[in-house]
Formats: sequence, structure tokens, C-alpha cells
Amino acid sequence: MTLRAKLLATYIGLTIAGVMVFSIFASWELKGYLDRRAESELKAHVEAVAALVRGGEFPPHSLPDHETTIRRMARSLNLRLTFIRKDGVVLFDSDVPLDSLPNVENHLSRPEISASRSGEFGLNRRESATVHEEFLYSATMVVIPAPDGTDTMYVRVARPFSDIQMLDRQVQIIIWAIGVLSIIVIAVVSSRASRGITRPILDIASSARAIRDGDLSRRIPVTSRDEIGTLASSINDMAEKLGNDIAQLKKLERVRSEFLGNVSHELRTPIFSLQGFLETLLDGAVDDPSVNRDFLEKAHKHAGRLNALLNDLIEISRIESGEMKMSFRFMPLADFLREVTGEMSSAAAKKHLNLAMEPGECADDKVYADRDRLKQVMINLLDNAIKYTDDGGSITVTTHREGTDWVCVEVADTGSGIPAQHLNRIFERFYRVDKDRSRDVGGTGLGLAIVKHIVEAHGGIIRVESTVGKGSRFMFTLKR
Ligand code: ADP
Repeated sequence: MTLRAKLLATYIGLTIAGVMVFSIFASWELKGYLDRRAESELKAHVEAVAALVRGGEFPPHSLPDHETTIRRMARSLNLRLTFIRKDGVVLFDSDVPLDSLPNVENHLSRPEISASRSGEFGLNRRESATVHEEFLYSATMVVIPAPDGTDTMYVRVARPFSDIQMLDRQVQIIIWAIGVLSIIVIAVVSSRASRGITRPILDIASSARAIRDGDLSRRIPVTSRDEIGTLASSINDMAEKLGNDIAQLKKLERVRSEFLGNVSHELRTPIFSLQGFLETLLDGAVDDPSVNRDFLEKAHKHAGRLNALLNDLIEISRIESGEMKMSFRFMPLADFLREVTGEMSSAAAKKHLNLAMEPGECADDKVYADRDRLKQVMINLLDNAIKYTDDGGSITVTTHREGTDWVCVEVADTGSGIPAQHLNRIFERFYRVDKDRSRDVGGTGLGLAIVKHIVEAHGGIIRVESTVGKGSRFMFTLKR
């Protein structure tokens, strides 16, 4: 059974029950009311006729003289009028011809007459023995003037019961018609209303199926702010989040396979070269004193590149897999920088570069850092500065404060500089401005990626400014 059928069954069931209860109660009440009204009307009529009799309008002995008047009155009121002598003999009856009157039986024992004799208001409902029709009878005893003082007689008014019943039936028909009409109206209205409820649910179901089948761009129109609206927007949110997650996963997957492609490409070059030189040597060049040493040195250089590349790869994969454990301590910054520049001075000297350390603002500051990792950052930056600065240039390491909590370490060179369009990409893995130059000077393309990872693991940021032909400035922040 569908939800809509259930809703409809509930609505209509409740309506039918309500209409039944209402109709039964209303018709019962109305029947009671109509009966009471018929009785009180009848009583009023009896009183009216009794008043006429009491006033001497219809003296008992001359009733046949008034036959036309009485019969007309009875017909126009749709009533039966009976006048009965005190001994029960029927003197006149509007439904009985005058000449049949002697055949009418004595009425003294009629219930309404007996009741009125004891001074009450007589009322009875039964089938007439005289005219064979059901009547509601009402009678009263009237005291009338008589030549020898007073006399009594009975006045009886009867109303055909079919008359009352017809009114009752008409009212019943109206009540039940209203009932049936309301059931139809409610059935139509609730059919619409239930469609209003079930249609959004069906929409939600079909959208949820579409989402399950991979259509993550599918959204359910949210048309209300009720529970169904909330459900729809929750499913939309879920689809959105799922879509984002999947996009993220796809991106990661793409980056990963790109990286793998780059790695194999990077490894292939030194391995081929190494293989080439060694094969040439084995093919006889080893005995040629004019080239053998040169070839061996070149083979050695490629082996060195391979080693550097593998070291950087190991490093970056340790950092990215989260395997690298950092151990932070407060350490004097100036001493540390002096030590690292000292270690790099011979490499700089080889290229006749002036490598200077000027402590600047933060000469006495301590920074919160992992010493070994920070050393790697400085070595990579100084190594690049040395690699990309021509003979005779200079490299300067300085520091300055940034706000109260941070120091900024700056490595500036007077080298080749980096064209502006590359500046925001040089921290990517394997990104190089000039591939050949980088390989020539033994670069792996991973140095700055490693630097950025480490600086960020310290909570700092790294940035670069550079002018082609004038030099570059790499700056990173550390917590003091
Ligand atoms: P590489 O091993 O190629 O030096 P890095 O990640 O260290 O790789 O640097 C990426 C690229 O950024 C380099 O190939 C080079 O083009 C550029 N670069 C880095 N440092 C400097 C610098 N001090 N001066 C000029 N270019 C630089």
C-alpha cells in the first residue's frame, strides 16, 4: 500500500466516521425536536378549538349546523377535529360524514380521552379504528355553559402521523446528503493534499536513486520549510559533500599519478646516462687515456644526481606521508644561521660568491623549531642561491621581526632571478623555471617543495620576491 493510499484511507475513514456520528446524532436530535414541536403545536390547536367551544361558538347540540366551517377549518389546518360528548358519544368528526356518526364506537376509553378526563392533557399515537390511518391525538376536557348550569365535553385534535414523518424524512435526507457531500469534498481535497505530501517524497526518492547511481550533480527542489523540505535539503547537502569528496579524491589520484610519472621520468635520465658512459667505457674507452677519466667523472656525476634525487624523494615522501616526526625546541636563531652559512661557505667560495650572515633585528631571538629540519630548509635555500647566482655575486642571510611573535629569515641573492609568471609555481614538486639549467647544476626540482613543507610544519609561511637579472629573496617566518 503506497503512502498516498494510506493517507487517503486515513483521511476518508476519519471523515466517514465523523459524518456518521454527526448524522446519527443530528437526526436523533432533530427527530426529538420535531416530535416535541408537533406535540406542542397540536396542544396549541386543541387549546384554540377548546377556547372556541368554551366561548359557545360550537354548542354541542348544534354542531351539524357548523359542519362546513369545521370541516373547512380542519382541512386547511390538515387536522382532524373530533367533538365528543361527556359520555363518549362522538358528536362530530371532521373525517366522518354526519350520517355515519351513529356507527362510530364510543370514545370514552380512548387513551387521550381517559387522560384528559383526569384533568391532564391527553396525548396518544396510534392507528385510528375509525379511519384506519396513524394519528397523533391530543384531547382536552372543556367546561361549557348549559341551561342548567355547566356541562362538559371533549375536544380532540389529531394530526396524521405521515405528515410528521414526512417532515422528519425530509430533514433526514438533507442531513445525510450533507454528510455524503462532505465525504466527497473531503475525499477530493485530501486526495490533492496527499498528493502534495507524497509528490515531494517521490521526488526525493527518485533523486536519491539518481545520486546513488552516480549523478552527484542532481539536486532536489526544496519547496517547503517543513520536515520534507529539511529532508530534501539534507540529501542535497549530502550529495554536495559526496561530490566534493569525490572531486578531492580524483584530484589526489591525479596528483599522485602525475607525481609517479614525474619520478620515473626524473630517474630515467641519470640512469640512461650512467648506463651509456659505463657501456662506452666497457666497449673500449676504458683503455683510451684521453677520455676514460672524463667518462668516469661523468658517470660519477650522474650517480650523484641519482643519489640526490632518491634522497629528496625519500624526504618528500616521509614528509607527505606524515612519517616525519618533528622535535621542536627553542634555539638561538643567530647562532644557528651562522653555523649553517659557515658550512655552506666553501661551496660559495668555489663560485667566488660573497656569502654573508647579518643577524639584523633578531640577533638575540630564540625560535621554536626542529633544528635538523630547519637546517635542511637553510641548506636548500642557500644551495639554490649558490646554484642560480653567477660567479662574483653575493648572498645575504638576514632576519627581522614580524609582529611580536614571529621572526622572518631572509635569503637574498644577486642571481638570475625568476620570471614573475613562475613565482607561484616554483614550490610545486618538480617545477623548474629552466629544466636544463637545473639539471646542469644538479637540481632535483624538489628542493623548494621540501622547504615549503617544513616551513608550514613549523606553522610559518614562505614567500619569494624576484627580479629577473637582479636576484631573488626567499623569506620564511618562524615562531619566536
Ligand atoms: P631545483 O632542484 O631545480 O633547484 P627547487 O625546487 O629547489 O628545484 O627550485 C625550483 C626552481 O626554482 C628551480 O629549478 C629554479 O628554476 C628556481 N629557483 C629556485 N631558487 C632560485 C634562486 N635562488 N634563483 C633563481 N631561481 C631559483
